[in-house]
Formats: sequence, C-alpha cells, structure tokens
Amino acid sequence: MTIDRRTLLKLSMAAAGTLALPAQALAQTAAPARKRARWIFLGTKGGPRVTTGRSNPANVLIVDDVPYVMDCGPGVSKRLVEAKVALPSIRYVFVTHMHSDHVLEFGNMVYGAWSAGLNHEVNAFGPVGMGALTKAYWESIRDDVEIRIPDESKPDPRKLLVVKEITDSGPVMSNDRVKVTALRTPHPPILERNYAYKFETPDGVIVYVCDTAYNPALAEFARGADLLIHEALYVPGVDAMTARVKNAATLKEHLLASHTTTEDVGRIAKEAGVKKLVMTHLVPGDDPSITDEMWMEGARKHYGGPIVVARDLMEIEL
Ligand SMILES: [Zn+2]
Ligand SMILES: [Zn+2]
Repeated sequence: MTIDRRTLLKLSMAAAGTLALPAQALAQTAAPARKRARWIFLGTKGGPRVTTGRSNPANVLIVDDVPYVMDCGPGVSKRLVEAKVALPSIRYVFVTHMHSDHVLEFGNMVYGAWSAGLNHEVNAFGPVGMGALTKAYWESIRDDVEIRIPDESKPDPRKLLVVKEITDSGPVMSNDRVKVTALRTPHPPILERNYAYKFETPDGVIVYVCDTAYNPALAEFARGADLLIHEALYVPGVDAMTARVKNAATLKEHLLASHTTTEDVGRIAKEAGVKKLVMTHLVPGDDPSITDEMWMEGARKHYGGPIVVARDLMEIEL
C-alpha cells in the first residue's frame, strides 16, 4: 500500500492528537486552583455626604466566590459592579450600625440584585433597627415590586431578603467556609447598637472595625489577626472639614467623641499584634491635601507592621 504525502500528514496529525489527549483530559479534570479570600474596599470615606473621589462606606469580602458585603453606603451597588462582583451573587450582608452612611443603599442594593436576577436568599445581619429599615424600604418601593413580580415573572424579593438583628456580642453566623463573630463597641451617642466583626476564613482572619471611639477592648478582639481594617480620624484635617460643611457647629465635637484618631488606631494594631493594618472610613475622606503618609504618620508612632491606606476598589488578598 502506498500512502501519499497528504494522507501521511493527516495520519501523523491524528496520532499527535491522540497522544495529546491524555494531557488535555487531565487539564480538563484537574480542579482549578482555589483563589484565596480577598477583601475589596468599595467606599473608603466616612460620612454620608456624596462627593467626587472616595465613595461612602462599603466593602466586600469574597471567599470561594461568595460575596460578604460589609456596610452599604451610597454607591455600594455601582462599586460592586465596578469590582466585577455580580449583584445577583450577593449572599451575605453585614451592617455595623444604623448611621445613614452605612445603610442608605442597603435596600437599593438588594433591589438592584433582584432586578438583575437574584433568585436565592440573602442573609443580612445588623443591629436592632435593621428589621424596621427593611420593612420601611419594601413599603417605599411596594408599587414597583408588586407590578414587576407578575409582569416580569420574578420571585418576591421581600421573601428573598432575610434580616437577622444582632442583640449582643458573640457568634453571628457560620457556614462551611466562614465564621463571623461580633463585638459591641461604643460609637457615641450610639453605645449599644454598634458592632465590629471578625471573619475567620480558610485563608486567615480579618477584623473589621467601623465605626468606633477608641476602644482598647478591640485589641483583644483582633488579637493576632492577619488583617485589621480600622476606621481612622485625622484630627488636623477636621477643622478644615468643619469649615467646609454648613451647619457643622457640633460636627467636630461628634467626630472627636465617636471616632478613633490615627494614633489610637496604631495603638490598637500594636496591642493586638495584627499582621497588617488597613485604615479606611477616612474622616475627612474628601480632602486631597491629606496624603497617605499623613494618614499613616500617627499610627506609625505605635505600630511597626505594614500599614495600608485604603482606596476605592483596592483589593487585599489574604
Ligand atoms: Zn460612618
Ligand atoms: Zn457612624
């Protein structure tokens, strides 16, 4: 039998293909490398005023593709989309306290997820007040929701959102990947209904403290954490800020009594022995004359580990 060159070429290509198959099959069956848990800062400015630059308080922790949203300030939905977190994928939401910069977009974020195809339960945790806020939100948007459910064959979003109010420090929730614990911390005049959260993930521990007055008990709560994410107040920037904002007579007083200065943030980080400190919920967070170096200066007097000044859409992998 004679084989022409063309057939020979075809045969050799087929043989090469056969040889290549096992490797290809292996590549297809091997599990893709697991991504490590990562935290994305969505809004890094404290306070409810909407400005250009940094967005209002919001964050998302992603563990094995499951998003855990922390605080829902104005802009959270847009920032989630920008961070490539699909809104219908939201699964858990945690709120630190009922100040508007942490809850203003809570309802609208869940609505946006529903609008984009949410079809699973969303579990939201926060202090007493979350239930009333949720009920009032659904009432405010009732006409639209009740028109769309039959018109667009959608599930009832009011049944998808399950809110659980936290009434004390202690365990909040856990699943097979993540365990969440809350610690009550004072944020005058809010003394009881304000919490810091600890997230224990397969890749390490993150403690999120936002907002709080200086509270040494947080150091014990954050002991040895891989990442301490703490709010920060830059005192020299506060006078300039109160001069910029109308009706701010008592604003400075409130800020100093209810937040933690950069120096005290450093004290907490040192005492806790955390591996890395990130400052967010920056107040003032809309003053470009305050450099990262200025934010870090106070904390550095006490804490010798790595310090990061958060920016919107910054990601930190554990
Ligand atoms: Zn705040
Ligand atoms: Zn607050």
